[in-house]
Amino acid sequence: AKRTGRGTLCFFDPDLDQVTRDRHALGKDLREALARQQFELHYQPVYAAVPRQLIGYEALLRWRHPDRGMISPAEFIPIAEETGLIHLLGEWVLHTACQEAATWPQDLQVAVNLSPAQFKREGLVKLVQTCLEQSGLTPARLELEITESVLLDETLANFSILKQFQSLGVKIALDDFGVGYSSLSYLRSFPFDKLKIDRSFVTEMPSSKQAAAIVRAITTLGHSLGMITTAEGVETQEQLDALRQERCDLIQGYLYGRPLPAEQLVHKGGQGA
Ligand code: C2E
Ligand code: CA
Ligand code: CA
Ligand code: CA
Repeated sequence: AKRTGRGTLCFFDPDLDQVTRDRHALGKDLREALARQQFELHYQPVYAAVPRQLIGYEALLRWRHPDRGMISPAEFIPIAEETGLIHLLGEWVLHTACQEAATWPQDLQVAVNLSPAQFKREGLVKLVQTCLEQSGLTPARLELEITESVLLDETLANFSILKQFQSLGVKIALDDFGVGYSSLSYLRSFPFDKLKIDRSFVTEMPSSKQAAAIVRAITTLGHSLGMITTAEGVETQEQLDALRQERCDLIQGYLYGRPLPAEQLVHKGGQGA
């Protein structure tokens, strides 16, 4: 360990701290990346299961790093959350997704991921309202995807925010459903519009009877509570067939389409199976 000018300790173990230093460097780059317009939104199509029809897209953030190429959000979102940049970044994502979606055919929706950290700052509802107003996007065409971690802490305040979103007419989806801790109690407390069944269940279908049974249970539960269900990470025709059999409503995955830059979207619906 070495003491630096301002009295803070820095550790220089070349092996152990490689990851830490990478993260630190990435954090610095991240701050400049917005100004340098290195972020892009890619859009992955979501289709009705039967008959196959394009419903809309999920906006997925991409960082085109000048030296490191495309960096996955799984890598930089946690850093953005730690450094607080997630607020500016999240603002950019919402504005960009709404502006883009407003140019699509009227019946297509856009889904935007919200980080739990964004709920900690005042003005999130106002931000969404402003994005809708400035883009002219009909509120019902915007869906906000949250994970149950949003509901873990500051539960009451965050429920109130979700209710305000719904008052605006915006849809709320519960993402990565089924892999958390106590998902069912949230369903009792809040009327989500959609459950997104976690990819891990879809991946195990159709070979795993257990995974299929869980997907069936989630779909049945969702439907009886007035929610629709999306299966994410659908990669094979066999998975698609099994998901149709379990009455899953919407399909998202590489089988039907990878996330693409806005200018490459075709907005075409339903040929083939
Ligand atoms: P997520 O919200 O669960 O998004 C689905 C992820 O699965 C995406 O990864 C997508 O590209 C990937 N995926 C879709 N279909 C398939 C498939 O058939 N097979 C496989 N193997 N993967 C598939 P991506 O784009 O790398 O995003 C990772 C995570 O980063 C997202 O998970 C989400 O939690 C977060 N994220 C992405 N964009 C944003 C954003 O704008 N804001 C926030 N807060 N988080 C974001
Ligand atoms: Ca998502
Ligand atoms: Ca997900
Ligand atoms: Ca996920």
